[in-house]
Amino acid sequence: MASYFDELHVEEDEMPNVRIESLTRETFRMLFDHDPTQFGDIISFQNIPPASKSEVEKLSAPSFEELIDEQCRICLCQYQLNEKALNMPCNHIFHENCLKTWLEKSNFCPLCKFELKTDNEMYELFKQELKNRQAREDNIAQLHESMFS
Ligand SMILES: [Zn+2]
Ligand SMILES: [Zn+2]
Repeated sequence: MASYFDELHVEEDEMPNVRIESLTRETFRMLFDHDPTQFGDIISFQNIPPASKSEVEKLSAPSFEELIDEQCRICLCQYQLNEKALNMPCNHIFHENCLKTWLEKSNFCPLCKFELKTDNEMYELFKQELKNRQAREDNIAQLHESMFS
């Protein structure tokens, strides 16, 4: 069976750093099935996709009491009366404008890296695979512990 590496005309031991943006769903699968342990090393996201617009629309505004004496950690300014702010799902609050500008370039909270969904199918797939892999590793670790302790 032809592998992804044949298509790229490279030897497997000189694997290129693959930019996930350029992969199709099929080649992504092939790469991942090929060698899951290498997966994280050969696939990288050069550009973090922006947060999905619909996710940003869902963010709620905090009450004014929550803003008193607090500062936006993006622009480091204290909230002024009548300034609009948004609450991330992780409960971190930022100016609406600051946060929206930030989320046009990335999908995570600037303070805690909590991730919003993106519209990038490959990125979501990538995250899901990492999660699955972590779950598998946790299961194996647990199993190991239950057998040997
Ligand atoms: Zn701000
Ligand atoms: Zn946060």
